[in-house]
Amino acid sequence: ENLYGIQGWGEPYFSINAAGHVTVSPQGNSRGFSLDLYELVESLKKRNLGLPLLIRFSDILGDRLERLHASMNRAIARYNYPGKYQGVFPIKCNQHRHLVEAIVQFGKPYQFGLEAGSKPELMIALAALEAGYHPTKDNFEPLLICNGYKDREYIETALLARKLGQKPIIVIEQIEELYLAIAVSRQLEIKPILGVRAKLLTKGSGRWGNSTGERAKFGLTIPQIVEVVEQLQAADLLDSLQLLHFHVGSQISSISVVKDAIREASQIYVQLVKMGANMQYLDVGGGLAVDYDGSKTNFHASKNYNMQNYANDIVAQIKDACAQGNVTVPTIVSESGRAIASHQSVLVFDVLGTSDVPTTPPSPVQEEEHLVLRNLWETYHFIDAQNYQETYHDAIQFKEEAISLFNLGYFTLAQRARAEELYWACCRKIVQIIPQQGYVPDDLEDLEKMMASIYYINLSIFQSVPDSWAIDQLFPIMPIHRLEEKPTARGILADLTCDSDGKIDQFIDLRDVKDILELHPLQFVDNQNNGDLSKQKSPAPYYLGMFLVGAYQEIMGNLHNLFGDTNVVHIQMTPKGYQIEYVVKGDTIKEVLGYVQYDPEDLIETMRRRTEVALQERKITLEEAQRLLQNYESSLNSYTYLVAN
Ligand code: PLP
Repeated sequence: ENLYGIQGWGEPYFSINAAGHVTVSPQGNSRGFSLDLYELVESLKKRNLGLPLLIRFSDILGDRLERLHASMNRAIARYNYPGKYQGVFPIKCNQHRHLVEAIVQFGKPYQFGLEAGSKPELMIALAALEAGYHPTKDNFEPLLICNGYKDREYIETALLARKLGQKPIIVIEQIEELYLAIAVSRQLEIKPILGVRAKLLTKGSGRWGNSTGERAKFGLTIPQIVEVVEQLQAADLLDSLQLLHFHVGSQISSISVVKDAIREASQIYVQLVKMGANMQYLDVGGGLAVDYDGSKTNFHASKNYNMQNYANDIVAQIKDACAQGNVTVPTIVSESGRAIASHQSVLVFDVLGTSDVPTTPPSPVQEEEHLVLRNLWETYHFIDAQNYQETYHDAIQFKEEAISLFNLGYFTLAQRARAEELYWACCRKIVQIIPQQGYVPDDLEDLEKMMASIYYINLSIFQSVPDSWAIDQLFPIMPIHRLEEKPTARGILADLTCDSDGKIDQFIDLRDVKDILELHPLQFVDNQNNGDLSKQKSPAPYYLGMFLVGAYQEIMGNLHNLFGDTNVVHIQMTPKGYQIEYVVKGDTIKEVLGYVQYDPEDLIETMRRRTEVALQERKITLEEAQRLLQNYESSLNSYTYLVAN
């Protein structure tokens, strides 16, 4: 069964097993081991790795790289392309050390390199390639594409790395960088390998579509590219110009944008060869999209092409343009980030509680009760399939009358509560009738959303999925267990922050976007007799997973309300199953307070002194003071998220 559309966005890595749990197959479901995500989370919890938890499956990275190369190589064979493909990973997509190191390792068979978009990323790229490639044993030369704004130090470092045997290509994105590169290379007497980033006129599409066009932030216009060629010729460095780069934006949903961009860029490439540049590489940037909703459409959360179509279009168009221009084909470079890194991370979090509209049927209204309440009861009582649309409006009107009476002081709190209870009972009855009608009348469209429960989740959207908050990006979200049970509740998700934006109320759907997510009602542990009221109300664990979150989210997250980094574990498959390769503990309260310049020792000392004064003034007992200080100190050392009771 294709619950939550998992077959569309999850294959071949995520599926549902007979126990009703999500299964992860890090090497694709046709080979290797699979593991039960729910059981994994339970076993991590026993190792004191609480939720929320980001789980990275490094083998998924390996599989993504393999698929990308297989697609490119198939296209090269299919079109008899007399050149090769050599990709790079854009570090900006996910800079975390274990991930970048895994990419370098998995990428070795393909001479897969790295792309740096800033000076700090250059530092990572240099060290990661140095550590990953053995100079004598590995006869490899992965590319190091140097993008982003550059100062003298950036260019010097990149040039000097050539002496270590690395292959940094300095991509000129601003015309000033050209003059700096010429000057620095003369001083160091190291010949640079240069690229130019072109501002294509081809328009991107969707949320990340404005990386091209004449007014784009990065890249050179065609007159500036001609200036680069002339200046390099004058400096006797035209043979240094070897790469043409462009990037039309991330998550290109429509294949027609890819086709247009390649067509334009291929012609620029051919012309650069004709102008005498020593062109070797055509770098098609990023943009290869991820199908977050599984719809295979050109909606922004999806894409209307697959990896093979993408590879075919690139290879075929470049080949045609070069044949027509009678020039040698380039090595094709791409900078796919999202398509490589998204699938490997799963964010698992728990539900702390729900806020539901009342579900118990109201007791009948008595003769002596207020007329408005009697009207509401009558409306409720007579709702049926013939009149549900009309009675909905009656119920709204009576409820509004009740609120006015309350605001004018004629209704007690108990009467208002009764009116609200009756109103929600009407809505519930109507919502149950709608599906039997086969269509949803316009005026009732929002009713289901209004009736949705709020599921409070142990997570900060601002920290863990900033794109959901900032640009309404959709990610697949589903329970990771209880999937053998029909999800009878409808909910939206609200996070831990005190911010009304900290919620998710748009969910993936094959046809459109959904306002609600089907979920399971929370189950409550039966603790009736233990006397602890808080425990009687505590729900049994209910875990949700947010999938495909491996690209961009972690690094762009912020500390709103001081919720810090979550716990992260890296899972690696072994011949016998899996192992926990790395654990990166999430921030403690002490650490996040440090980011905003609080010294934990000072804080404790301030509190200690204040309790001494309160003790002397006999406002607090010694036991209470001790308990307060112990709690304060242990909180500083604990996770910023909540621990279930
Ligand atoms: N290359 C450049 C220059 C970028 O700016 C980006 C990100 O937008 C990428 C590559 C990666 O793009 P994507 O993650 O869509 O593959």
